Amino acid sequence: MSFKPANKIQDLQYFGEFGGVNPSISDSSTYTFISAKTMFDTFEGNAEGCYLYSRHSSPSNLYLGEALAAMEDTETATVTATGMGAIVPAILQICNAGDHIVASRTIYGGTYAFLKNLAPKFGIKTTFVNITKLEEVEASITSDTKIIFCESVSNPLLEIADIRGISEITKRHNLKLLVDNTFSPMSISPAKLGADVVLHSLTKFINGASDTMGGVICGTQEFIDQLRNVNDGTCMLMGASMDSMRAASILKNLRTLHIRMKQHSENAMYLAKKFQDDGFRTVYPGLKSHPGHKLMTSTMNPDYGYGGMMTIDVGSLEKANELMELMQERNLGYLAVSLGFYKTLFSAPGTSTSSEIPEEEQKEMGLSDGLIRFSIGLDNDIERTYRSMRQCMYHVGILNPETNKSLVV
Ligand code: PLP
Repeated sequence: MSFKPANKIQDLQYFGEFGGVNPSISDSSTYTFISAKTMFDTFEGNAEGCYLYSRHSSPSNLYLGEALAAMEDTETATVTATGMGAIVPAILQICNAGDHIVASRTIYGGTYAFLKNLAPKFGIKTTFVNITKLEEVEASITSDTKIIFCESVSNPLLEIADIRGISEITKRHNLKLLVDNTFSPMSISPAKLGADVVLHSLTKFINGASDTMGGVICGTQEFIDQLRNVNDGTCMLMGASMDSMRAASILKNLRTLHIRMKQHSENAMYLAKKFQDDGFRTVYPGLKSHPGHKLMTSTMNPDYGYGGMMTIDVGSLEKANELMELMQERNLGYLAVSLGFYKTLFSAPGTSTSSEIPEEEQKEMGLSDGLIRFSIGLDNDIERTYRSMRQCMYHVGILNPETNKSLVV
């Protein structure tokens, strides 16, 4: 495949207004106009290159948006204050009261909670489906359906969506396909596979420093203009705009994303293979045992690997908590939600990031109590990390020190 998103970022050229290699940060919430007429035209959306007010747009936010659009290969993009600040406006821009959404049942808990509990207040209903079953997806479409929503690699079960297959369905039924690509930046390019809108929480791998929140909506110029419209644009009116200072800092971090993703992927692959060999139920799309392995292999950008996210099942929540606390004590990572940090982060999704999903539904989708979700860090010596993790596993009694095999039944 000739398309290489990293190269696209590398190829962007900036000259700051004083010749700086980074664009100057627009440290203003409001902008002056020489003529009152231009101010009016800007409100009407007819003054290219003019800035009005930073909730609408700012030079720093536009720079970051353009870089992310280059990465995702969409016409353009708009950045937001958080990932949820991208997902909610994108959905509400498209759906009206009475409309219907078909969504994957394995998605980030916040998105699930929005669709299940909040969107119905606006008259928008959602049917949750097993996104890996295309017949089930298509059968759930009604005459009111407007959107199919999924994650390329789902949180937390790491199911792989067949974006190409789903996009054939959305095209057949004249729907929009919205894909959250937070777990697989660079590795998967949803727009190339037929997604209409690509969303990210920049809070995760893209920024990679766990120091800020951020989000992005990548799509056509027409859609992004609608989101920013001063009269009925959800990004403009719901107010989740990114601050310019943050846009500038995320842009700088974005430039090393391709290197970081390779290292996250390499380390995760190493650990996933080891844990699987040790006899733990291990889920990682890079493993041949993963049901979506072939699909991801045939649709990914191979240079960046299968990503930094993996799960193992250690049998019970008690064991999961004991192991995570010990791994943190021994400086192998942090017991924290979120992902994409330089250190490994681990959490038990059933009681944290997916706790919005009722217990019954968690069981049905295979989200077990003993599941630990890992966001594997950038460790330079991953063999040493594995050896130390093994010591923790002996200590909590889930790995047999004689045979080096899992004791989890
Ligand atoms: N999408 C996914 C897949 C996530 O994991 C998260 C957060 O965990 C979000 C969206 C929401 O992003 P944010 O926390 O930046 O609002």
